Amino acid sequence: MSFFENTLKNIAEAAKIMKLDAKVEVVLQHPKRVLEVSIPVERDNGQVEVVQGFRVQHNDAAGPYKGGVRFHEDVNMDEVKALATLMTLKCAVVNLPLGGAKGGIAIDPVAYSPKELEQITRRYVRLIEPFIGPETDVPAPDVNTDAQVMAWIADEYSKLKEKNMWGVVTGKPVSFGGSVGRDDATSQGGMFILDELMRSFGKEAKNTRVVIQGFGNAGANMANILYLNGYNIIAVSDSKGGLYCEHGLDPLATMKCKVKSGSVADCGGEEFQPKAGDSCKRVSNEELLRLDCDVLVLAALENQITEKNANEVQAKIIFELANGPTTIEADEILAKRNIIVIPDILANAGGVTVSYFEMVQNKQNYYWDSQEVADKLKKVMVAAWENVAKNREKYACTYRQAAFITALYRLSDILTLRGLS
Ligand code: NAD
Repeated sequence: MSFFENTLKNIAEAAKIMKLDAKVEVVLQHPKRVLEVSIPVERDNGQVEVVQGFRVQHNDAAGPYKGGVRFHEDVNMDEVKALATLMTLKCAVVNLPLGGAKGGIAIDPVAYSPKELEQITRRYVRLIEPFIGPETDVPAPDVNTDAQVMAWIADEYSKLKEKNMWGVVTGKPVSFGGSVGRDDATSQGGMFILDELMRSFGKEAKNTRVVIQGFGNAGANMANILYLNGYNIIAVSDSKGGLYCEHGLDPLATMKCKVKSGSVADCGGEEFQPKAGDSCKRVSNEELLRLDCDVLVLAALENQITEKNANEVQAKIIFELANGPTTIEADEILAKRNIIVIPDILANAGGVTVSYFEMVQNKQNYYWDSQEVADKLKKVMVAAWENVAKNREKYACTYRQAAFITALYRLSDILTLRGLS
Protein backbone atom coordinates (compact mmCIF):
# COMPACT_ATOMS: atom_id res chain seq x y z
CA MET A 1 0.00 0.00 0.00
CA SER A 2 1.41 3.42 -0.90
CA PHE A 3 1.91 6.18 1.69
CA PHE A 4 -1.07 8.12 0.30
CA GLU A 5 -3.30 5.01 0.31
CA ASN A 6 -2.16 4.34 3.87
CA THR A 7 -3.19 7.88 4.86
CA LEU A 8 -6.60 7.56 3.18
CA LYS A 9 -7.16 4.25 4.97
CA ASN A 10 -6.43 5.91 8.31
CA ILE A 11 -9.03 8.57 7.47
CA ALA A 12 -11.54 5.88 6.45
CA GLU A 13 -11.03 3.92 9.70
CA ALA A 14 -11.55 7.01 11.87
CA ALA A 15 -14.52 8.11 9.74
CA LYS A 16 -16.17 4.73 10.30
CA ILE A 17 -15.68 4.84 14.07
CA MET A 18 -17.09 8.37 14.44
CA LYS A 19 -19.70 7.96 11.67
CA LEU A 20 -18.35 10.92 9.69
CA ASP A 21 -20.60 12.43 7.02
CA ALA A 22 -19.65 10.61 3.78
CA LYS A 23 -19.64 13.95 1.87
CA VAL A 24 -16.91 15.29 4.13
CA GLU A 25 -14.89 12.10 3.84
CA VAL A 26 -14.93 12.08 0.05
CA VAL A 27 -13.79 15.72 -0.08
CA LEU A 28 -10.86 14.97 2.22
CA GLN A 29 -9.82 11.98 0.10
CA HIS A 30 -8.81 14.33 -2.73
CA PRO A 31 -6.19 17.09 -2.68
CA LYS A 32 -7.64 20.30 -4.10
CA ARG A 33 -4.66 21.18 -6.26
CA VAL A 34 -1.65 19.20 -7.44
CA LEU A 35 1.34 20.88 -9.12
CA GLU A 36 4.36 19.28 -10.76
CA VAL A 37 7.06 21.54 -12.16
CA SER A 38 10.27 20.97 -14.15
CA ILE A 39 13.21 22.98 -12.85
CA PRO A 40 16.28 23.51 -15.06
CA VAL A 41 19.60 23.61 -13.17
CA GLU A 42 22.86 24.93 -14.61
CA ARG A 43 25.49 22.83 -12.83
CA ASP A 44 28.76 24.42 -11.72
CA ASN A 45 30.49 22.44 -14.50
CA GLY A 46 28.30 24.12 -17.16
CA GLN A 47 26.00 21.16 -17.81
CA VAL A 48 22.23 21.61 -17.64
CA GLU A 49 19.81 19.14 -16.09
CA VAL A 50 16.13 19.26 -15.18
CA VAL A 51 14.78 18.19 -11.77
CA GLN A 52 11.15 17.67 -10.71
CA GLY A 53 9.41 19.80 -8.09
CA PHE A 54 6.01 19.29 -6.47
CA ARG A 55 3.45 21.25 -4.45
CA VAL A 56 0.21 19.65 -3.31
CA GLN A 57 -2.51 21.79 -1.74
CA HIS A 58 -4.79 19.37 0.06
CA ASN A 59 -7.47 21.48 1.74
CA ASP A 60 -7.80 25.14 2.76
CA ALA A 61 -11.25 25.18 4.37
CA ALA A 62 -9.74 26.05 7.76
CA GLY A 63 -7.31 28.71 6.47
CA PRO A 64 -4.31 29.22 4.16
CA TYR A 65 -2.54 26.05 3.01
CA LYS A 66 0.48 25.25 5.20
CA GLY A 67 3.23 22.68 4.87
CA GLY A 68 6.95 22.11 4.42
CA VAL A 69 9.19 21.68 1.40
CA ARG A 70 11.42 18.59 1.31
CA PHE A 71 14.62 18.02 -0.69
CA HIS A 72 15.17 14.27 -1.09
CA GLU A 73 15.95 11.94 -3.98
CA ASP A 74 12.85 9.82 -3.20
CA VAL A 75 10.33 12.70 -3.30
CA ASN A 76 7.39 11.74 -5.52
CA MET A 77 3.77 12.75 -6.05
CA ASP A 78 2.29 9.98 -3.89
CA GLU A 79 4.48 10.98 -0.94
CA VAL A 80 3.72 14.69 -1.30
CA LYS A 81 -0.04 13.98 -1.51
CA ALA A 82 0.13 11.90 1.68
CA LEU A 83 2.16 14.53 3.53
CA ALA A 84 -0.20 17.33 2.39
CA THR A 85 -3.21 15.36 3.63
CA LEU A 86 -1.52 14.77 6.99
CA MET A 87 -0.89 18.53 7.25
CA THR A 88 -4.64 19.29 6.92
CA LEU A 89 -5.34 16.81 9.72
CA LYS A 90 -2.41 18.02 11.86
CA CYS A 91 -3.50 21.67 11.74
CA ALA A 92 -6.99 20.53 12.70
CA VAL A 93 -5.80 18.44 15.69
CA VAL A 94 -4.07 21.47 17.20
CA ASN A 95 -6.95 23.71 16.15
CA LEU A 96 -4.96 26.14 13.97
CA PRO A 97 -6.74 28.33 11.40
CA LEU A 98 -4.71 26.70 8.61
CA GLY A 99 -5.16 24.13 5.86
CA GLY A 100 -2.71 21.51 4.63
CA ALA A 101 -0.11 21.41 1.84
CA LYS A 102 3.33 19.96 1.15
CA GLY A 103 6.09 20.44 -1.37
CA GLY A 104 9.27 18.78 -2.45
CA ILE A 105 12.06 18.62 -4.98
CA ALA A 106 13.40 15.22 -6.07
CA ILE A 107 17.14 15.79 -5.53
CA ASP A 108 19.85 14.49 -3.25
CA PRO A 109 20.94 17.86 -1.82
CA VAL A 110 24.42 16.54 -0.97
CA ALA A 111 25.10 16.20 -4.71
CA TYR A 112 24.59 19.95 -5.32
CA SER A 113 26.71 22.97 -4.33
CA PRO A 114 25.09 25.73 -2.20
CA LYS A 115 25.02 27.92 -5.34
CA GLU A 116 23.17 25.22 -7.29
CA LEU A 117 20.71 24.65 -4.41
CA GLU A 118 19.96 28.39 -4.28
CA GLN A 119 19.31 28.39 -8.03
CA ILE A 120 16.99 25.34 -7.78
CA THR A 121 15.08 26.91 -4.86
CA ARG A 122 14.62 30.29 -6.57
CA ARG A 123 13.46 28.64 -9.85
CA TYR A 124 11.01 26.46 -7.89
CA VAL A 125 9.57 29.63 -6.30
CA ARG A 126 9.15 31.27 -9.72
CA LEU A 127 7.22 28.23 -10.96
CA ILE A 128 4.83 27.97 -8.01
CA GLU A 129 4.58 31.74 -7.32
CA PRO A 130 1.01 32.18 -8.64
CA PHE A 131 -0.22 29.60 -6.12
CA ILE A 132 1.58 30.63 -2.90
CA GLY A 133 1.47 33.73 -0.67
CA PRO A 134 0.95 34.79 2.95
CA GLU A 135 -2.84 34.50 2.59
CA THR A 136 -2.92 31.47 0.28
CA ASP A 137 -0.13 28.92 0.85
CA VAL A 138 2.84 29.26 3.20
CA PRO A 139 5.73 26.73 2.84
CA ALA A 140 8.16 25.84 5.67
CA PRO A 141 11.26 23.67 6.29
CA ASP A 142 11.17 19.88 6.18
CA VAL A 143 13.70 17.12 5.46
CA ASN A 144 16.99 18.65 4.16
CA THR A 145 15.67 22.21 4.01
CA ASP A 146 16.49 24.85 6.62
CA ALA A 147 16.29 28.55 7.50
CA GLN A 148 18.68 29.43 4.64
CA VAL A 149 16.41 27.75 2.06
CA MET A 150 13.42 29.59 3.59
CA ALA A 151 15.35 32.90 3.30
CA TRP A 152 15.88 32.23 -0.45
CA ILE A 153 12.15 31.54 -0.86
CA ALA A 154 11.15 34.71 1.03
CA ASP A 155 13.64 36.82 -0.94
CA GLU A 156 12.69 35.43 -4.38
CA TYR A 157 8.96 35.81 -3.72
CA SER A 158 9.46 39.39 -2.42
CA LYS A 159 11.45 40.26 -5.56
CA LEU A 160 8.72 38.87 -7.81
CA LYS A 161 6.09 40.91 -5.94
CA GLU A 162 8.37 43.99 -5.76
CA LYS A 163 7.80 44.41 -2.02
CA ASN A 164 8.87 42.67 1.19
CA MET A 165 6.55 39.71 1.60
CA TRP A 166 8.45 37.61 4.14
CA GLY A 167 5.22 36.08 5.39
CA VAL A 168 5.16 33.80 2.31
CA VAL A 169 7.22 31.26 4.23
CA THR A 170 7.93 30.26 7.86
CA GLY A 171 11.02 28.80 9.49
CA LYS A 172 13.01 31.86 8.35
CA PRO A 173 16.17 33.00 10.16
CA VAL A 174 15.23 35.09 13.23
CA SER A 175 17.12 38.08 11.75
CA PHE A 176 14.89 37.85 8.64
CA GLY A 177 11.38 37.67 10.12
CA GLY A 178 11.61 34.24 11.76
CA SER A 179 10.17 33.36 15.18
CA VAL A 180 12.38 32.48 18.10
CA GLY A 181 11.74 28.88 19.10
CA ARG A 182 10.91 27.64 15.55
CA ASP A 183 14.16 25.62 15.30
CA ASP A 184 13.25 23.18 18.04
CA ALA A 185 9.46 23.72 18.05
CA THR A 186 8.69 20.23 16.70
CA SER A 187 10.69 18.61 19.49
CA GLN A 188 9.55 21.04 22.18
CA GLY A 189 5.92 20.35 21.26
CA GLY A 190 6.70 16.62 21.18
CA MET A 191 8.08 16.77 24.70
CA PHE A 192 4.93 18.45 26.01
CA ILE A 193 2.90 15.53 24.59
CA LEU A 194 5.30 12.87 25.88
CA ASP A 195 5.29 14.49 29.34
CA GLU A 196 1.48 14.30 29.43
CA LEU A 197 1.52 10.64 28.40
CA MET A 198 4.17 9.76 31.00
CA ARG A 199 2.24 11.66 33.67
CA SER A 200 -0.83 9.57 32.84
CA PHE A 201 1.24 6.45 33.69
CA GLY A 202 2.86 8.05 36.75
CA LYS A 203 6.28 7.38 35.18
CA GLU A 204 9.15 9.78 35.84
CA ALA A 205 11.46 11.08 33.11
CA LYS A 206 14.58 9.75 34.83
CA ASN A 207 13.22 6.19 34.67
CA THR A 208 12.30 6.49 31.00
CA ARG A 209 14.77 5.00 28.49
CA VAL A 210 14.49 6.58 25.06
CA VAL A 211 15.80 5.45 21.66
CA ILE A 212 15.72 7.97 18.79
CA GLN A 213 15.81 7.09 15.08
CA GLY A 214 17.01 10.09 13.00
CA PHE A 215 19.43 12.73 14.25
CA GLY A 216 18.44 15.74 12.13
CA ASN A 217 16.40 18.81 12.98
CA ALA A 218 13.57 16.92 14.68
CA GLY A 219 15.53 13.97 16.19
CA ALA A 220 18.65 15.73 17.48
CA ASN A 221 16.62 18.54 19.05
CA MET A 222 14.25 16.00 20.61
CA ALA A 223 17.22 14.08 22.04
CA ASN A 224 18.62 17.25 23.56
CA ILE A 225 15.32 18.57 24.96
CA LEU A 226 14.42 15.20 26.51
CA TYR A 227 17.95 14.86 27.95
CA LEU A 228 17.78 18.34 29.50
CA ASN A 229 14.42 17.38 31.03
CA GLY A 230 15.79 14.27 32.68
CA TYR A 231 14.94 11.50 30.18
CA ASN A 232 17.60 8.85 29.63
CA ILE A 233 18.62 8.74 25.94
CA ILE A 234 20.18 5.31 25.37
CA ALA A 235 20.51 5.20 21.57
CA VAL A 236 20.38 7.43 18.49
CA SER A 237 20.85 6.87 14.75
CA ASP A 238 21.25 8.65 11.43
CA SER A 239 21.19 7.34 7.86
CA LYS A 240 24.64 5.75 8.30
CA GLY A 241 23.90 3.75 11.47
CA GLY A 242 23.28 3.96 15.21
CA LEU A 243 25.01 4.36 18.56
CA TYR A 244 23.79 2.47 21.66
CA CYS A 245 25.06 3.39 25.15
CA GLU A 246 23.17 1.34 27.71
CA HIS A 247 23.99 3.79 30.56
CA GLY A 248 22.78 6.78 28.52
CA LEU A 249 24.40 9.35 26.24
CA ASP A 250 24.72 13.13 26.02
CA PRO A 251 23.09 14.36 22.76
CA LEU A 252 25.19 17.56 22.59
CA ALA A 253 28.44 15.57 22.80
CA THR A 254 27.00 13.19 20.19
CA MET A 255 26.20 16.10 17.87
CA LYS A 256 29.72 17.53 18.27
CA CYS A 257 31.16 14.11 17.41
CA LYS A 258 28.78 13.66 14.43
CA VAL A 259 29.84 17.02 12.98
CA LYS A 260 33.46 15.83 13.09
CA SER A 261 33.06 12.17 12.11
CA GLY A 262 30.01 12.36 9.80
CA SER A 263 27.76 9.93 11.69
CA VAL A 264 26.58 9.15 15.23
CA ALA A 265 27.55 5.54 14.45
CA ASP A 266 31.22 6.58 14.63
CA CYS A 267 30.84 8.07 18.13
CA GLY A 268 30.84 6.34 21.55
CA GLY A 269 34.55 6.55 22.34
CA GLU A 270 36.04 6.80 25.85
CA GLU A 271 34.53 10.23 26.55
CA PHE A 272 31.09 8.58 26.18
CA GLN A 273 31.95 5.99 28.86
CA PRO A 274 33.04 7.96 31.94
CA LYS A 275 32.32 5.26 34.57
CA ALA A 276 33.62 1.71 34.97
CA GLY A 277 31.09 -0.67 33.47
CA ASP A 278 29.76 1.84 30.92
CA SER A 279 29.68 0.56 27.38
CA CYS A 280 28.74 1.96 24.00
CA LYS A 281 28.44 0.07 20.74
CA ARG A 282 27.59 0.63 17.12
CA VAL A 283 24.19 -0.78 16.03
CA SER A 284 22.68 -1.07 12.56
CA ASN A 285 19.59 0.94 11.64
CA GLU A 286 17.52 -2.26 11.79
CA GLU A 287 18.90 -3.24 15.24
CA LEU A 288 18.14 0.19 16.67
CA LEU A 289 14.42 -0.28 16.02
CA ARG A 290 14.50 -3.55 17.99
CA LEU A 291 16.24 -2.20 21.13
CA ASP A 292 14.58 -2.74 24.50
CA CYS A 293 13.40 0.70 25.72
CA ASP A 294 10.39 2.59 27.05
CA VAL A 295 10.02 5.05 24.16
CA LEU A 296 11.12 4.68 20.54
CA VAL A 297 11.06 8.11 18.88
CA LEU A 298 10.86 7.87 15.08
CA ALA A 299 12.36 11.05 13.61
CA ALA A 300 13.65 10.04 10.16
CA LEU A 301 11.32 9.18 7.28
CA GLU A 302 8.07 7.35 6.48
CA ASN A 303 7.52 3.56 6.36
CA GLN A 304 10.06 2.60 9.04
CA ILE A 305 7.88 0.27 11.14
CA THR A 306 6.15 -2.13 8.79
CA GLU A 307 4.57 -5.61 8.95
CA LYS A 308 8.13 -6.95 8.54
CA ASN A 309 9.57 -5.54 11.78
CA ALA A 310 6.53 -4.58 13.94
CA ASN A 311 6.68 -7.90 15.78
CA GLU A 312 10.29 -7.26 16.78
CA VAL A 313 9.76 -3.83 18.33
CA GLN A 314 10.49 -4.00 22.07
CA ALA A 315 9.57 -0.40 22.94
CA LYS A 316 6.45 0.14 25.06
CA ILE A 317 5.66 3.41 23.27
CA ILE A 318 6.33 4.55 19.71
CA PHE A 319 6.45 8.32 19.34
CA GLU A 320 6.10 9.58 15.75
CA LEU A 321 8.11 12.76 15.39
CA ALA A 322 8.48 11.90 11.68
CA ASN A 323 5.50 11.88 9.34
CA GLY A 324 4.08 8.49 8.42
CA PRO A 325 6.81 6.28 9.96
CA THR A 326 4.38 3.45 10.84
CA THR A 327 2.36 1.64 8.16
CA ILE A 328 -1.26 0.66 8.73
CA GLU A 329 -0.33 -3.06 8.77
CA ALA A 330 2.28 -2.36 11.46
CA ASP A 331 -0.27 -0.35 13.45
CA GLU A 332 -2.52 -3.40 13.69
CA ILE A 333 0.32 -5.61 14.92
CA LEU A 334 1.46 -3.00 17.46
CA ALA A 335 -2.10 -2.52 18.78
CA LYS A 336 -2.45 -6.29 19.30
CA ARG A 337 0.86 -6.24 21.20
CA ASN A 338 -0.41 -3.33 23.39
CA ILE A 339 2.34 -1.04 22.14
CA ILE A 340 1.13 2.55 22.29
CA VAL A 341 1.67 4.67 19.17
CA ILE A 342 1.50 8.46 19.56
CA PRO A 343 0.70 9.52 16.00
CA ASP A 344 2.54 12.06 13.84
CA ILE A 345 -0.38 14.48 13.48
CA LEU A 346 -0.31 15.01 17.25
CA ALA A 347 3.30 14.22 18.18
CA ASN A 348 5.04 16.57 15.72
CA ALA A 349 2.42 19.35 15.54
CA GLY A 350 4.66 21.71 17.54
CA GLY A 351 6.51 22.67 14.34
CA VAL A 352 3.46 23.91 12.46
CA THR A 353 2.14 25.56 15.63
CA VAL A 354 5.22 27.80 15.97
CA SER A 355 5.10 28.34 12.18
CA TYR A 356 1.59 29.70 12.77
CA PHE A 357 3.01 31.93 15.54
CA GLU A 358 5.58 33.17 13.00
CA MET A 359 2.77 34.05 10.56
CA VAL A 360 0.96 35.98 13.32
CA GLN A 361 4.16 37.87 14.28
CA ASN A 362 4.92 38.69 10.61
CA LYS A 363 1.41 40.10 10.17
CA GLN A 364 1.70 42.23 13.31
CA ASN A 365 5.35 43.08 12.58
CA TYR A 366 5.79 42.61 16.33
CA TYR A 367 7.96 39.82 17.74
CA TRP A 368 7.58 37.72 20.89
CA ASP A 369 10.30 36.46 23.24
CA SER A 370 11.12 32.79 23.72
CA GLN A 371 9.11 32.48 26.94
CA GLU A 372 5.98 33.79 25.23
CA VAL A 373 6.45 31.32 22.35
CA ALA A 374 7.06 28.38 24.73
CA ASP A 375 4.04 29.24 26.93
CA LYS A 376 1.72 29.57 23.94
CA LEU A 377 3.06 26.34 22.40
CA LYS A 378 2.51 24.41 25.62
CA LYS A 379 -1.07 25.64 25.85
CA VAL A 380 -1.86 24.50 22.30
CA MET A 381 -0.16 21.09 22.67
CA VAL A 382 -1.70 20.25 26.06
CA ALA A 383 -5.19 21.22 24.82
CA ALA A 384 -4.72 18.97 21.76
CA TRP A 385 -3.51 16.13 23.99
CA GLU A 386 -6.57 16.46 26.22
CA ASN A 387 -8.97 16.39 23.25
CA VAL A 388 -7.28 13.34 21.74
CA ALA A 389 -7.14 11.52 25.10
CA LYS A 390 -10.87 12.21 25.61
CA ASN A 391 -11.76 10.81 22.18
CA ARG A 392 -9.56 7.78 22.79
CA GLU A 393 -11.56 7.00 25.90
CA LYS A 394 -14.92 7.81 24.34
CA TYR A 395 -14.37 5.57 21.30
CA ALA A 396 -12.12 2.96 22.99
CA CYS A 397 -9.71 3.27 20.07
CA THR A 398 -5.98 3.83 19.41
CA TYR A 399 -4.31 7.22 19.83
CA ARG A 400 -3.99 7.45 16.02
CA GLN A 401 -7.70 6.86 15.51
CA ALA A 402 -8.49 9.34 18.30
CA ALA A 403 -6.24 12.01 16.76
CA PHE A 404 -7.84 11.52 13.33
CA ILE A 405 -11.32 11.66 14.92
CA THR A 406 -10.40 14.91 16.75
CA ALA A 407 -9.21 16.44 13.46
CA LEU A 408 -12.14 15.15 11.44
CA TYR A 409 -14.72 16.63 13.85
CA ARG A 410 -13.20 20.05 13.34
CA LEU A 411 -12.84 19.68 9.56
CA SER A 412 -16.38 18.34 9.28
CA ASP A 413 -17.70 21.37 11.13
CA ILE A 414 -15.85 23.85 8.89
CA LEU A 415 -16.53 22.02 5.63
CA THR A 416 -20.23 21.75 6.43
CA LEU A 417 -20.47 25.45 7.36
CA ARG A 418 -18.68 26.40 4.14
CA GLY A 419 -20.76 24.10 1.92
CA LEU A 420 -17.82 21.71 1.46
CA SER A 421 -15.76 24.76 0.33
P1 NAD B 1 16.41 16.14 8.67
O1 NAD B 1 16.80 15.98 7.25
O2 NAD B 1 16.92 17.30 9.43
O3 NAD B 1 16.79 14.80 9.49
C1 NAD B 1 16.48 13.49 9.09
C2 NAD B 1 17.42 12.55 9.85
O4 NAD B 1 17.04 11.20 9.60
C3 NAD B 1 18.89 12.65 9.41
O5 NAD B 1 19.70 12.60 10.56
C4 NAD B 1 19.10 11.40 8.56
O6 NAD B 1 20.46 10.97 8.56
C5 NAD B 1 18.21 10.43 9.33
N1 NAD B 1 17.83 9.22 8.60
C6 NAD B 1 17.40 9.06 7.33
N2 NAD B 1 17.14 7.76 7.08
C7 NAD B 1 17.40 7.08 8.23
C8 NAD B 1 17.33 5.71 8.63
N3 NAD B 1 16.91 4.77 7.80
N4 NAD B 1 17.66 5.39 9.90
C9 NAD B 1 18.08 6.31 10.76
N5 NAD B 1 18.15 7.63 10.46
C10 NAD B 1 17.83 8.00 9.20
O7 NAD B 1 14.81 16.12 8.68
P2 NAD B 1 13.83 16.61 9.84
O8 NAD B 1 13.39 17.99 9.53
O9 NAD B 1 14.41 16.29 11.16
O10 NAD B 1 12.56 15.67 9.54
C11 NAD B 1 12.50 14.32 10.00
C12 NAD B 1 11.04 13.88 10.01
O11 NAD B 1 10.31 14.75 10.88
C13 NAD B 1 10.35 13.96 8.66
O12 NAD B 1 9.39 12.94 8.56
C14 NAD B 1 9.65 15.30 8.71
O13 NAD B 1 8.54 15.38 7.83
C15 NAD B 1 9.22 15.32 10.17
N6 NAD B 1 8.90 16.64 10.69
C16 NAD B 1 9.85 17.61 10.73
C17 NAD B 1 9.50 18.87 11.21
C18 NAD B 1 10.51 19.98 11.33
O14 NAD B 1 10.14 21.04 11.85
N7 NAD B 1 11.74 19.79 10.90
C19 NAD B 1 8.19 19.13 11.63
C20 NAD B 1 7.25 18.10 11.61
C21 NAD B 1 7.64 16.86 11.11
